[in-house]
Amino acid sequence: MIKVIVDMDKCQHYGQCVYEAPNIFKLNEEDKLEYLATADDSELGNIQAAVDICPMQAIQLIKE
Ligand code: SF4
Repeated sequence: MIKVIVDMDKCQHYGQCVYEAPNIFKLNEEDKLEYLATADDSELGNIQAAVDICPMQAIQLIKE
């Protein structure tokens, strides 16, 4: 299981994470980021790519 935490004070809602891990991150109707706080291990690569690409370094990944 993977825990995902986004610092919403840092997030600028650019949406790069949505392209890397579309099962976890999405922009809602107001273009604000929404995300799943827990994810299956199979998403590890995608979430790590989102962590790496986030321009605000707002995403934290915790492997449990
Ligand atoms: S890539 Fe980072 S700044 Fe952009 S929407 Fe995702 S968490 Fe927010």
